[in-house]
Amino acid sequence: MAQLSDRVRALMQPHLASIEPYDPNFTPCRVNLSANENTYPMPAAARASIDAALAATPLNRYPDPMSNELRAEIAAWHGVNPSWVCVGNGGDELLYNFLLAFGGAGRTLLNCPPCFSEYAFFASLAQTKVLDVWRDAETFELDRAAVLEAAPKCDIAIVTSPNNPTGDLASVEFVREMCAACPGLVMVDEAYGEFADAASSCEQLLSECDNLVVLHTLSKAFGMAGTRVGYVIAAPDVIDAFAAIRQIYSVNVLSQAAALAAVRARDQFAPVVDAIRSERARVIESLHGIAACGLPLEVWESEANFVLVRVPNATRVRERMRDEKSILVRDFSYAPGLADCLRITVGTPEENDEVLAALAALLKEEIDSCHE
Ligand SMILES: *Cc1c(COP(=O)(O)O)cnc(C)c1O
Repeated sequence: MAQLSDRVRALMQPHLASIEPYDPNFTPCRVNLSANENTYPMPAAARASIDAALAATPLNRYPDPMSNELRAEIAAWHGVNPSWVCVGNGGDELLYNFLLAFGGAGRTLLNCPPCFSEYAFFASLAQTKVLDVWRDAETFELDRAAVLEAAPKCDIAIVTSPNNPTGDLASVEFVREMCAACPGLVMVDEAYGEFADAASSCEQLLSECDNLVVLHTLSKAFGMAGTRVGYVIAAPDVIDAFAAIRQIYSVNVLSQAAALAAVRARDQFAPVVDAIRSERARVIESLHGIAACGLPLEVWESEANFVLVRVPNATRVRERMRDEKSILVRDFSYAPGLADCLRITVGTPEENDEVLAALAALLKEEIDSCHE
């Protein structure tokens, strides 16, 4: 993406003048395991229901601002009243709206990096200060004591569970403590929640913690990143604030129709999620196997649909995977706290075999070349 010109920077709002355009660093590749998308084919019957719903959707009318049919289906699924749900144009829109409504100038967001970089980005758009409480440099575990100490000084907090890109959960017990310690709203981003055990979801706290917001998306487990549908679950007065500040037509009629059909067909997606979970276990075990062969590789446990690894010269390894094998993974080397880390989405068994073989071969070559 092009850099911003000095001329235009000077015309922008001062707090945006130093912004850098986001570079998704995407190169078309044979195997793309870079963005945590679901690479499995959608269950055929679910896809047929979605296609039929799309075909039957008139395009001439504005969408229902609150996606009420979809909202009711999501609410029934999660066992809450529809007044507890707000649908958005992807989880990203809801994250932005969260910062817009509850952050802002003079406010502080409690953030636990390394985590999803969009939090800090949306905070900067909304002029919200960010207080970073870093995870353990080696295990990436949350620094619980430091988070609870910082929470009373913050206006809002976001914690990711499972976390992107480190894969670990925030415990339900800890989120309960955060909700008690933070005077404002606490968002738990469960974008990858379906890939973890159901008991680890913080939704069980909603009835007891009225400042909790749980974020979900159809982009990951449902394999519908292209439709841009996410939702939050929170107390009805919190949902009213989300509803009040949103761009009313942000979730278009086709996305509402596709999402409604998918959520109705949700049981059909369970085998895909199960397959990804069992592939995740196999990938992690194979990576431990590669390390046990003496190759320099570190791997962390994950409750999501990706794994984080650390290898020497990660940037070069990732470029060689792309250029020599046409396999795309995400390089986090540049990110603070993630030196030499690559994030690999768990794909189909064939894709995973390819990435494992490529990684083992390239690491071996990299080692051999430094002994020459
Ligand atoms: C993917 C993701 C989201 C939401 O993605 P959308 O496609 O905008 O719904 C939110 N949080 C995290 C941590 C993610 O990785």
